[in-house]
Amino acid sequence: MAYFPELWFTEKYTGTCGFTFKVKRVLNTQQSPLQRLDILETYDFGRVMLLDGLIMFTERDEFVYHEMIAHLPLFAAHEPKDVLIIGGGDGGTAREVSKHTYLNSITNVEIDEVVVENSKKYTPFVGSGFDNDRVNLIIGDGIEFVKNKSELYDVVIVDSTDPFGPAEGLFNVEFYTNVRNILREGGIVVAQAENAYYDKRWMMRSVNNMRKAFGVDNVAIYQAAIPTYPSGTWVFAIGWKSGEHPRDRFDSDRFEGLGLDLKYYNPEIHRAAFVLPNYVKEILKG
Ligand code: SAM
Repeated sequence: MAYFPELWFTEKYTGTCGFTFKVKRVLNTQQSPLQRLDILETYDFGRVMLLDGLIMFTERDEFVYHEMIAHLPLFAAHEPKDVLIIGGGDGGTAREVSKHTYLNSITNVEIDEVVVENSKKYTPFVGSGFDNDRVNLIIGDGIEFVKNKSELYDVVIVDSTDPFGPAEGLFNVEFYTNVRNILREGGIVVAQAENAYYDKRWMMRSVNNMRKAFGVDNVAIYQAAIPTYPSGTWVFAIGWKSGEHPRDRFDSDRFEGLGLDLKYYNPEIHRAAFVLPNYVKEILKG
């Protein structure tokens, strides 16, 4: 009888639990100077990108993360013109930000060209985000990019890997202070901030450092349901330089005018995403 070997992938969340799925085939494996990249074809989640063995996105549910990291701050910002994306080498965030056709500039600073090349080749549903002429892709370190800059932005989106390796400095006070310095009045920063279940220490590191840079009253978190990320509920830390809480700012005229065809974000989600369960509120108290 023929033997058909099965290939399975597991992302370990702790030493004793994780998330497992069967893999149809491995499309590419590559070691960049910074990280190991794998592109998988799967049965349940379509194409999947891993960096250093961790899921960056899956074809099936990437829309949640990319819509929530892009549209919520953009519809909260007052007449945004210039947007800076740090990280986001897969192009998914650039794809969503580009839907805001009124913007003057979209700058995307990604440290690893290998991520961009692979995303364009193997996962064009996100990689095509870089095909838009209005996206100025810069290959470089986002930590250095925000130091001593004179250009100002209305929204800064930190779409980074987890807080170690090249991304470690994207979660510290110095970085958030530099980001604050390049925001216009009323400007907004959003950063992916892990999750409150397995990684509350990482989440709080991001929140506390953002609080030190923006002030305790000018930082909040919101959540989104992302099935393939640890705990299924992802946290975004949001800081604003001045003005109202972003939960209470939503430009309905701009939203109606763009008429976007979105799969997750909508005006109700804009507010509801800030509603937190009690155990998360407790964690936030420190
Ligand atoms: N959605 C993803 C997640 O939370 O798992 C993030 C995906 S995106 C691929 C993250 C990107 O951040 C990677 O391409 C990585 O190379 C980039 N990155 C890490 N550190 C960086 C830095 N210091 N400057 C710019 N980009 C950085």
